[in-house]
Formats: sequence, structure tokens, C-alpha cells
Amino acid sequence: MSSPAVGRALRFFETNADAITEEQIRICSIPASPFGEQERAEYLSQKFQELGLAEVEIDEEGNCLGLITGASRSPLVVASAHLDTVFSKDADFTVVRREGRLFAPGIADDGCGLAALIALAQVIQTEQIPLEGSLLFVGTVGEEGEGNLRGVRHLFTKGRWASKIDAFLSFDGPGVDRITHRALGSRRYRVEFNGAGGHSWGDFGVPNPVHAMGRAISRLAGYPAPKEPRTSFNVGRIEGGTSVNSIPRSATMEVDLRSAAEGELQRLDAFFRRAMRDAVDEENARRRAGDPLLKLRLNLTGERPTGETPVDSPLVEIALEATKILGFEPRLDQSSTDSNLPISMGIPAITLGAGGTSGASHTLDEWYDPRDRDQGLKRALLVVLGMIGTGERG
Ligand SMILES: [Zn+2]
Repeated sequence: MSSPAVGRALRFFETNADAITEEQIRICSIPASPFGEQERAEYLSQKFQELGLAEVEIDEEGNCLGLITGASRSPLVVASAHLDTVFSKDADFTVVRREGRLFAPGIADDGCGLAALIALAQVIQTEQIPLEGSLLFVGTVGEEGEGNLRGVRHLFTKGRWASKIDAFLSFDGPGVDRITHRALGSRRYRVEFNGAGGHSWGDFGVPNPVHAMGRAISRLAGYPAPKEPRTSFNVGRIEGGTSVNSIPRSATMEVDLRSAAEGELQRLDAFFRRAMRDAVDEENARRRAGDPLLKLRLNLTGERPTGETPVDSPLVEIALEATKILGFEPRLDQSSTDSNLPISMGIPAITLGAGGTSGASHTLDEWYDPRDRDQGLKRALLVVLGMIGTGERG
């Protein structure tokens, strides 16, 4: 805090607040759906190039990378935000400004993280903040939903930086007090019910996939999920059928299971699998003699590991201190983010909000309010510099 360069950098976030918001609007206007992040990645890599980052590239998985080399290659710290949103590419990504708020799908999740990455790179370059270690910027693909952390997984397992990364920071969503150091585990399924189908009157008695799915949902909805450790389940999408007077041939649903504790997640997972099988058996038991059986298929579409970066690890301690020095009360938190992957590998990782406030996340009405965003950016910079070390003394 006493370093003149750091002081200039902290003021930079205040005086450039409008420009940072303009940048957020530009990057969020580029559509980025799951498995459709390429255009946004190309924009970010162009930005990294303009800011003079080294080794700028888009890797085989689609992540966008750029490096600021300090006095040494180590420690190597990653600052990341995710490129993808939960929305399909047909969604309207136009950013609308109304009464100080920005409205667009993904404007906060993770538009404000991406804006933070660019602002951090910019401030370190323009204020020429000396770094002891090196800072790798990464815009990741596939953080949301069916992306199943494919970007960060590639970074840590197959990418050329794998095994060289000493700490990982993800900037995801708004806020200035949250420190996500525990990974929330989840399992996601696509469940398919397939049958012969037929005429609603003429073939009545043929097992009905939608009826079976209804039975299955009803069973799952009755699960006594504990409050502690917090556990949740969600049938997020259903699909199936052809017309009101046809017995459908298929029905599918997408299910998300989560728990703060691995054991509880396994219990919920076992209950869920059993509920699906029982629902199909129940539907089949009522079929007409000789009719073919309804078939069930469970496809595991996502699996996110649990774990935590200890509270007394340097990364969490620095984040706690940085939050307090800016006058905020830190809040230790658990969530499902890109940090899940490094955490499960034992690499120190946390996810931080990147300032400002937001609402209606994961809906088309998502909004972001950039007021006081500079506080989140200041914290981000202090944590990065705390981990990497800055050469200069004030
Ligand atoms: Zn996010």
C-alpha cells in the first residue's frame, strides 16, 4: 500500500471507471454461449496484444492466454475469468443501459470478471508496476453448465502451463467481500426415458416416457435435503413428446445435484439414481401385457470436484487482509467455479468478486451496476501483487 506505483494503480481504477465499464460493454456484446466462446476469445487476445502481453495465444481448448513476465518466472500466478455464459448463441447479447445499470445476458457473470482482467493487465502495464514473479491472464472456456470446467481442466492437465502454476485466482461475478475458497461439488445428468410411443387412445397402456419422468421428478422432489451441509437438487430442463394425443417415444430432463460435502453428494446421487430406476419400474409395471418396456438412460454430463484451499494458506490470508485494508468485512464462501479444479489438485485457488453489484444472474434480465467497482479491482490487484510480489518499495 505504501508503494507509489501501487498507489497510482489504485487511483487508476477510480479515474478510469467509465472506460472500464465501456470495455465491459464491448466484450459482453460479443455472444459467448457454451462451446461458442471463440469470437469473444479472439477479442480478448487482441486486447492482450494491444496491452503488450507476451505469449498471447488461444490454446487447443479455446482458452485465451497472455503473460506479464516479472523478474522471475516463478511464482506463476493465474488471474482468470470465464468467457462463456449460460445462454444460447441466439440470445440477444446487446447491452442496454438504464438508470446506471447495464442489462445483458452474462453482463456480470462473467462480464465483470473479464473487465477486471483487462483492467488489471492495463494498470500493471501503464503504471509499470514491477513484478517479482509472473502473471498469466486466462479467459477460460466452459465454466458454466455443460462446459464442465473444460477450459480450466485443460489449463491444469494438458496445456503447456500445466504443472507450472503456483496459484490460481478466478474473478467471477460482482462484490468485494466474498472469498470463495471451498469448492462446491456437483453432479449433472441428462436422463432419457425411451419407449415405443403410440396413439393416446388406441395404444393406451404403452409405457409413457413423460409419465415415467413425472414419477421420477416427484420422487426426487421428495428428497429430504439437509440444510447442513447445504445440499440442493434441481430439475432444470425437461423436453419430450410430439402432440397432445400421442404417447411420446422419449422424454429427457437435465438434473443438477450439489452438496457442500462429498459424502452428502454421494448420498443424494445414490437416491437420485434409485428414484429414476424405481420410476421407470413403476411405469413399466402398469403396461399392457406384451408391450415393450420403457428404457432409462442416465448420462453423467458434469462432475465437479469438492475440496478447499485452507483458510491459513497464504492465498486466503492475503485475500482476507486485502479485503480488510479496503474497509470491508471478508466473507469466506463456498461455490462452484473454475477454482474447483485446481483446488481438487491441491493447488491454492480462490474465486473473488470483481466489484460492483448485480442481480437476476443466469436469466435474460441479468444486470450489473458498476458503482464502486474500483473497490473490487483494488482488492484484485492487491491479492495478485501479494502473491507475486512487487519489486519496488515506497
Ligand atoms: Zn460465473
